[in-house]
Amino acid sequence: MKNWILTIGIDKFYLTEKEKVFYLESIDKGAKYISIGDKILGTTFQTLINKSVIEETKALNEGKKQCEYGKWHDKNASCFCGTRWIMSIDGVAREVPHNYELSEGEKELK
Ligand SMILES: [Zn+2]
Repeated sequence: MKNWILTIGIDKFYLTEKEKVFYLESIDKGAKYISIGDKILGTTFQTLINKSVIEETKALNEGKKQCEYGKWHDKNASCFCGTRWIMSIDGVAREVPHNYELSEGEKELK
């Protein structure tokens, strides 16, 4: 998985975790150029960002919220990540969100 995005000038390069470590270690050791795959990269870069940061920023910009289970949901959507089963007063068992508050007569199904 090429999860790292390296920006050099106006070019973006996608690196794996291993390639990212190799790239940074090579800079530390004083390399002027670093050969990765079919590319020879310079050592002056603007940013080296993990894709998850970009995804998180994008989700926040879209007004999404991250629930306690680490999933992104639309602002007004209910989170069904940790659903529970309850029994309604009329005897109907159903699935509810983890943060659902029981009404009178409803009970938790174990
Ligand atoms: Zn959720």
